[in-house]
Amino acid sequence: MTRNTCVIAGGGPAGAVLALLLARSGVEVTLLEKHADFLRDFRGDTIHPSTLEVLDEIGLAEEFHRIPHHKAHAMAMETDEGSIRIADLSNLTGKYRYIAFVPQWDFLNLVTTAAARYPGFRLVMNAEVHDVIREGNAVRGVRYRDPDGEHELRATLTVAADGRHSDVREAAGLVPVEHGAPMDVVWFRLPREAADPEKTFLRLSAGHMMVVINRETYWQLAYLIPKGGFDALRSRGIEALREPVATLLPFLGERAGLLPDFDHVSVLSVALNRLRRWHRPGLLVIGDAAHAMSPVFGVGINLAVQDAVAAANLLAGPLADGAEIPESLLAAVQRRRTPPTVVTQFAQRVVQTMLIRPALAGGDRPVRLPRDLSRLPVIGALARRFIGLGVLPEHVKTPVRSHRV
Ligand SMILES: Cc1cc2nc3c(=O)[nH]c(=O)nc-3n(C[C@H](O)[C@H](O)[C@H](O)COP(=O)(O)OP(=O)(O)OC[C@H]3O[C@@H](n4cnc5c(N)ncnc54)[C@H](O)[C@@H]3O)c2cc1C
Repeated sequence: MTRNTCVIAGGGPAGAVLALLLARSGVEVTLLEKHADFLRDFRGDTIHPSTLEVLDEIGLAEEFHRIPHHKAHAMAMETDEGSIRIADLSNLTGKYRYIAFVPQWDFLNLVTTAAARYPGFRLVMNAEVHDVIREGNAVRGVRYRDPDGEHELRATLTVAADGRHSDVREAAGLVPVEHGAPMDVVWFRLPREAADPEKTFLRLSAGHMMVVINRETYWQLAYLIPKGGFDALRSRGIEALREPVATLLPFLGERAGLLPDFDHVSVLSVALNRLRRWHRPGLLVIGDAAHAMSPVFGVGINLAVQDAVAAANLLAGPLADGAEIPESLLAAVQRRRTPPTVVTQFAQRVVQTMLIRPALAGGDRPVRLPRDLSRLPVIGALARRFIGLGVLPEHVKTPVRSHRV
């Protein structure tokens, strides 16, 4: 059995950023990731200004911007009747006034490579956490397996950042409250050509909704279906997907026919839930493990990163000093992050109920909105602030207490 100050289960945005911030502050931290690499297609790829500011604050913004990326300065929804501008981020205050679309694995590689420059950081890939070490009501580390076998890792603090199906959360007996989502998402890609539109946008028509993401050489496409509707779609054959795609995105021409079969699509079951209690003595739950976010607004990564920053701000000092972490400090992390989570999930539920559910149900005029929401006073300002910076943007306050190796 080995021992560490902090063990984090899950190398997603929440776990990776927390590990970097702690290692940078001189904390010994082990990050356990169950996959062999970070290559996970069709996950959140949107890095919003709030996260760009965090990267700036820790000196990683320049390196981040060297990753090939696509910038979206505004968000638009294309309907059969024309374009509706939802939010214009170019009017935001601050240095970063756009959403950067970056493959999530590039973002995670950047963060974990930066963390590896500090001597206290250890990353173990292929390491699946399956249980926690308990002492009474307290969590004192994790049990995980990797290709070498079973291991126990004791720690002052255990962090569950293992996503919305969190094994650590379950092992600790914490159960989230489900708030429901009316849709699932079918992801796939099609080739992009030079004459195609530049923008990334939302496409809405009676009975159909798509997210259309410009990935430079290809389109990453998300087709929304009613919750649990994938088997019914699949039983109708691949043409049932090709046909609406060709109609909704006429610029693709014959390319919709290049989607060979359902083996080339990935279906993601959307969940929206949150824990009532994000902690136990010795254990903190953050990111999707504490609150699975709907893909609406594409803010899940950003909330996960903000949780990590808030947790590091409150915990890095005591952890670096070798202190025990009282549960009241873990409760303080939850108190700090609950309001933004609740407000964001509420806004996602409003969009799910008022826009997505009726749109997927069909009808001739699924949406009636002003042409340029971004110009409406108050609404325009609220939309760009909410989407760009979130409800309670966090700033890195952890000192650099470790020298790079
Ligand atoms: C369909 C869909 C589309 C989305 N689109 C967007 C978007 O465009 N923009 C956006 O910001 N957000 C989006 N999101 C949400 C976003 O992906 C998540 O909110 C975000 O990734 C949460 O980060 P996390 O670190 O908390 O969890 P995750 O990203 O889920 O990371 C958890 C990590 O833990 C690992 N893990 C799991 N179990 C174990 C275990 N037992 N042991 C060790 N490791 C484990 C996983 O392999 C994973 O690497 C989308 C979500 C969905 C479902």
